[in-house]
Amino acid sequence: MKILVINCGSSSLKYQLFDMDKESVLAKGLVERIGIDGSRIKHTKTGMDAVLQETSIPDHKVGIKLVIEALLDKGHGVLSSLDELSAVGHRVVHAGEKFASSVRLDAKVMAALKDCIPLAPLHNPANIMGIEAVSEVLPSVPQVGVFDTAFHQSMPEHAFIYGIPYGYYEKYKVRRYGFHGTSHYYVSHRAAEMLGRPIEKLKIVTCHLGNGSSITAVDGGRSVDTSMGFTPLAGVLMGTRCGDIDPALIPFIAQAEKLDVKDVDILLNKKSGILGVSGLSSDLRDIEDAAARGEARSKLALAVLSYGIRKYIGAYAAAMGGIDVLVFTAGVGENSALIRSMVCEGLEFMGISIDREKNNVRGKEADIGAEGSKVRVLVVPTNEELVIARDTKRLVSEA
Ligand code: ADP
Repeated sequence: MKILVINCGSSSLKYQLFDMDKESVLAKGLVERIGIDGSRIKHTKTGMDAVLQETSIPDHKVGIKLVIEALLDKGHGVLSSLDELSAVGHRVVHAGEKFASSVRLDAKVMAALKDCIPLAPLHNPANIMGIEAVSEVLPSVPQVGVFDTAFHQSMPEHAFIYGIPYGYYEKYKVRRYGFHGTSHYYVSHRAAEMLGRPIEKLKIVTCHLGNGSSITAVDGGRSVDTSMGFTPLAGVLMGTRCGDIDPALIPFIAQAEKLDVKDVDILLNKKSGILGVSGLSSDLRDIEDAAARGEARSKLALAVLSYGIRKYIGAYAAAMGGIDVLVFTAGVGENSALIRSMVCEGLEFMGISIDREKNNVRGKEADIGAEGSKVRVLVVPTNEELVIARDTKRLVSEA
């Protein structure tokens, strides 16, 4: 069974074609600058060099058509006919409280996703455009939506209700939702598999550390708390996002700098975080290099970041009444031995200690816990696309 996985942004579209009999990736690619000058598609058939085509891509529908052409191409294609394509799975950011798991997409589901646009005004419209483009180009191919928020729908009320008038939850659905759910789901389940232990018996803290970062408490395979909130701005320090701050800073800065609410929103989303503290870059590699040269503010950014993550690990161990496994994933979590060691420093009292040598690993699965560490510490590269492909296969096979 062949399944196309699509992650559609406002001006870009990433895709992967899976052969689900072997769970292997046959081809992948990226359509960039949709609706802007310089649009292009980069397509890579597994085992071959990437093929780049610069062409006008005014909208997502043209983008999808180019993806299909690339997949059917005689040279770098991987399908001999569209009949081979069984289904398309989409990453969708926000499903509010409407879906706690992946679903087959139909008119009713689409209406529900449109209802969620106020909760994710930047992401959901782009995801919806991708789904509608596929419906137009491939009307008979079934489609599935896999939601970033779904895994966190198992959080108990006391973890998702904010301390503001309850009426805002009823009226506007203001609550903690959490994001990166597909990644937290994948790495927590994969961690249990790697350890050969049933996930139902494990208390796991998963640290998804990328440009956007979130920490999740996974108790018995279910998300019970997560660091992102109503939006992906909350939690630990990120590339350009501030993470947790005192909300009273917003009116203070607005008044002091004569900014309106929208400006402050941009400030906290785009100019803060690692970039804001370091004054240098949002990319952790630059910050690690600058800190190694002795640059004080970069050192401070690393310290603020690792201290914040460490506090969440402690908080989530308290929330679950213990911790058996700590998992690192995403760009920073998979690649930065420095951040992993800074985060784990001083957590020996909780049974967390890592092995220096084993921690010297990048981008592959590894158990980096020291011998005798009560808590297993794992690096697990995330694979959200595989989860989307698996859910899509399951849902279209059930029908
Ligand atoms: P996104 O959230 O956009 O998906 P990623 O998960 O790809 O982002 O993570 C991007 C982050 O990972 C960047 O800050 C980058 O600096 C960091 N990163 C990637 N490789 C390394 C590395 N070798 N060492 C340290 N940080 C790294």
